[in-house]
Amino acid sequence: MVPGPVDHNKKRGSMYLPEKHKQFSIAHQKRESFETLLAGSAKEHGHLCPGQVIGVRMALLGLKLLGLANPKETREIRKLVVYVEIDRCATDAISYVTGVKLGRRSLKFKDYGIMAATFVNLSTQKAFRIVSRESSRENAKAFALQGENLHTMQLEAYKIMPLSKLFTVQEVSINIPAADMPGPSAFKISCDKCGVILRDQKEVRTQGKILCHACAGTAYYTEKEQSTHKKIPEQFHLFHNF
Ligand SMILES: [Zn+2]
Ligand SMILES: [Zn+2]
Repeated sequence: MVPGPVDHNKKRGSMYLPEKHKQFSIAHQKRESFETLLAGSAKEHGHLCPGQVIGVRMALLGLKLLGLANPKETREIRKLVVYVEIDRCATDAISYVTGVKLGRRSLKFKDYGIMAATFVNLSTQKAFRIVSRESSRENAKAFALQGENLHTMQLEAYKIMPLSKLFTVQEVSINIPAADMPGPSAFKISCDKCGVILRDQKEVRTQGKILCHACAGTAYYTEKEQSTHKKIPEQFHLFHNF
């Protein structure tokens, strides 16, 4: 009989470990997987920063509260929606750990300027809002080693600080509007003024008209010249010219 592949990850003899060593072993493995997630998140984000540590820990806590262990796997990928309330470092870590994405409509951005995120399990309707404590910045000093600068001090402290010192948690209820749910677009309408197609009930309804944001005057941009669509240069059409 041909021997099967050796599983190097399997801790040999771990079943004979005394209870307290078993606990140490589990804690050690968890720490390892935390560090792996943190390294992956930092790579994706572009640098390792205190926000990555906060984001990874917040995401793991959110998943734990919802009872989702593998949100990136097929079985759970449709169950999770996360609302983030700030577009800063930790948001990337939350997205990396949980796998939620803007393009899948599983990541929702509410521009509230608060380091907070709400984790929603669509299958149970449970939702928890986790807020980062401002006091954790000050508390970081108590966990720091001598001679560390503020950046390193926070980074290392946030890895080991108890969750209760890092976050507050609220159980909340959320009614996600049908037009915001993941899945194919159920709503489609055109702007009365310019004719652009608007999906997902994002139209502006004013004085009996259905308008896009630009026509309603609420867009984030203004056109430089009146209704002139800039011509894309012909040579740009070939990929190798980029
Ligand atoms: Zn960062
Ligand atoms: Zn329009």
